[in-house]
Amino acid sequence: MYKVKKLAVIGSTGSIGTQSLDVVRKIGGMEVISLAANENIELLYEQILEFKPRIAAVVNEEKCEILKKRLAGSKTKIVSGVDGLLEAAVCDEVNTVILSVVGNSGIRPAFEAINAGKDLALANKETLVSAGQLIMDTAREKGIKIYPLDSEHSAIFQCLQGNKENKIKKIILTASGGPFRGKNLEYLKNVTVADALSHPTWSMGKKITIDSATLMNKGLELIEARWLFDVPVKDIEIVVHPQSIVHSAVEFEDNSIIAQMGMPDMRIPISYALTYPFRMENNFERLNLFEKNNLTFEKPDFDTFKCLKLAYRAIETGGTMPAVMNGANEKAVYKFLEGKLKFIEIPEIIEQTMNAYNVISDYELEDVIEADKWAKAYAESIIKA
Ligand code: MG
Repeated sequence: MYKVKKLAVIGSTGSIGTQSLDVVRKIGGMEVISLAANENIELLYEQILEFKPRIAAVVNEEKCEILKKRLAGSKTKIVSGVDGLLEAAVCDEVNTVILSVVGNSGIRPAFEAINAGKDLALANKETLVSAGQLIMDTAREKGIKIYPLDSEHSAIFQCLQGNKENKIKKIILTASGGPFRGKNLEYLKNVTVADALSHPTWSMGKKITIDSATLMNKGLELIEARWLFDVPVKDIEIVVHPQSIVHSAVEFEDNSIIAQMGMPDMRIPISYALTYPFRMENNFERLNLFEKNNLTFEKPDFDTFKCLKLAYRAIETGGTMPAVMNGANEKAVYKFLEGKLKFIEIPEIIEQTMNAYNVISDYELEDVIEADKWAKAYAESIIKA
């Protein structure tokens, strides 16, 4: 049997966090040692009653106090702030950290978890985007495993099983194309927050849904794939596949392409990450190929979806540039969600921020965190101006 997973679920009330807990509930054989959430204490309260973790962290201090009162007498230790979140991640008994917080705030917990010798089930893409080299080097040094939770990266990981000796010719990273696939720049000028939030195939958190609409999500995944699988960016091809059934593929030297297919249900890649190398039975919806009998593939439109080009530029520049791209994107996306920025201005803000930045080639963790802060502040200043 696989090593019993003793889990820390960092970001337990978000989309991936709740689906991970559903996998724990449905598949079993795993123990939840700690939970951490930003501020959704209503849901966290229910999760604590159900999973009885040793530790639960709430980043928001005021909300944490409220939760503490509600749980007076409970065996779960309640901790607050970013320090509390880190405590939950590195808690002694934990052997696997599910990292599903949104944005660059995932970088420090990822780093601390790896240093504490925990395996990572990684949904937070910003960690690898912003600090990929550092994270992968440290993971190798510490001998820990990183299991991808993102559907595309899980697919690639699955396609690579049994292929250790075989050179990858190309990674085929599929993209749904988002809600504005086939539209032009003129159309994008007038799209609203509601338009951008209505994703055709996946149900996800708000930040990643906007990233899917701008295609920045695919840009982030490109960089993530580059680090996870140690493949140069030129050997990763983005292919738009609107049905989201082929979750990605790998082409080998003999021109064979191995792809992974399944329904667009995040619980499938989550299960694989948590029970690897075993595949456990579940009651999730099965893929019926007679119903999904029209799978199509097309080239992405780099001129309309400029974020893709920016992602290529960031990873080609290297160093702290991806962290800056990511920080600027985070700021721009939240401003768009607040109605303070137009959809079409998101790539402009990111590009201007990247243009104004002096990259650090040989970076450490603190440089990445500084680059992120700088990018957010700079993006904010030009959004206001
Ligand atoms: Mg994905």
